Amino acid sequence: MYRGKSIVELRDLIDKGDLGKEEVFEKANYLAHFFQDDYNSFVTILDKYKSKDSDSDSLLNGIPYSLKDNFSTSGILTTASSNILRDYVPVYDATVYKKLKKAGASLVGKTVLDELAMGGTGTTGHTGVVRNPYDKERMIGGSSAGSVASVALGIVPFSIGSDTGDSVRKPASYGGVVGFKPTYGLISRYGLFAFASSLDHVAIVTRSVEDGAIVADTLKGYDSLDMVTYKSSKEEFRKSLDNDIKGKKLFYIKEVCGMDAYKDSDDKELKEVLESFQEVLAECRKKGFIIEEVSIDKKILEALYPAYMCISCAEATSNNANLTGIQFGPRGEGETIESIMFDARTKGFSELIKRRFVLGSYILQKENQEKLFLNACRVRRMIVDKINELFQEYDGMIAPCSGGVAPTFDSSSEKLSDRYLILENHLVIGNFGGFPSITIPYHKINGLPVGLNITGRVKEDAVVLNMAKKIEEITGLKGIYAEVGDGDV
Ligand code: GLN
Repeated sequence: MYRGKSIVELRDLIDKGDLGKEEVFEKANYLAHFFQDDYNSFVTILDKYKSKDSDSDSLLNGIPYSLKDNFSTSGILTTASSNILRDYVPVYDATVYKKLKKAGASLVGKTVLDELAMGGTGTTGHTGVVRNPYDKERMIGGSSAGSVASVALGIVPFSIGSDTGDSVRKPASYGGVVGFKPTYGLISRYGLFAFASSLDHVAIVTRSVEDGAIVADTLKGYDSLDMVTYKSSKEEFRKSLDNDIKGKKLFYIKEVCGMDAYKDSDDKELKEVLESFQEVLAECRKKGFIIEEVSIDKKILEALYPAYMCISCAEATSNNANLTGIQFGPRGEGETIESIMFDARTKGFSELIKRRFVLGSYILQKENQEKLFLNACRVRRMIVDKINELFQEYDGMIAPCSGGVAPTFDSSSEKLSDRYLILENHLVIGNFGGFPSITIPYHKINGLPVGLNITGRVKEDAVVLNMAKKIEEITGLKGIYAEVGDGDV
């Protein structure tokens, strides 16, 4: 009756009186507990139905959801999955949480992330690893690991995550769900713990494109508390989903996902990803899309990941300087302020985070700024200019999100191979340009999902959603979830 239902389906059941709002919450709560030991989606599960019955006419009224644990929720533990915030209970609400409360949506739990949203494996949170609902021996990816797992398990129909490099759109690919990162500034980030402010976005996890549009409609809008937000048009994304894509033009980048890009590789999974991608493209063409291959200088594409690391580590080092153990989190020991902070930060961050802060500090050192930070910003500008130039002719870019299915926990990657340097990291283009970008499932390999991504022009979220909805129809994978366990309620 409840598990695996979309927002639209639950809305209907609630409106018809087949399910009560509190009953819906209880079912979600039951599922959250049922799957917690095996998959570890949550840092905190909320056991009390809090939202007073709201009279809001929002489509989200009475709909349960989960929220990544790097969004501030007043009175509810918010750890960012880091030891340095392990006891932190905020005193203010993030704008998205406030808006969802007002809409009458009910929060089921705060989800596990890679520590401070840095990482892509879902294995570095302070409460343990998140497992892939399609195969427990595999990662779900990250950093919005618990958000994706909770939707992929059918616990909640939607979750709110954050996406700085690919943190919603990449795990969405591994979890067979929809991951939508709207245009930079469409949704306020007030109360989202800053990682790299020029790249940080609020992003949405759902099981259908239409549900993603509904949540974006609820969350969008100018907020004086986040200076990059803008007044978006009143027109609802959901209402503009008309399925009319005739003449829409897409490109894919030959060096990222062309059939010949990895000629020398004997990776079977990669071959299947590329072939099935071409098959979907062929179907899309039959339905009216125009899709062409374009070429971009491989040197720029190879520089994407290093440029992302330079910019994000530099910004993260500065943003996280407030985590001293003095205002928040466990206090360090020592005689002086400096030694107290030193102790708190030494104990509070894992090695991975420390490595990023060391990199960030190095990149920001006066003598390195020109060579490292500013050059990374130039690479960013070069790629964004190139994509914008292509967007003069094309409505969007399409690509597989990854060269394979979710990796196993013990797999090692050859970080410098083409696949890892380009195909595994190209989603960051969406953050570099602030472009609206969405992942939807398009294929399964041995039962494990893989996703494709569509990225479009800034402020053309509606166009991107509409194209994605059409492709969702073509793949026939709308609404899938991992039907594991007997937790049906
Ligand atoms: N995986 C990327 C990283 O390691 C992206 C993280 C994110 O988008 N928050 O930083």
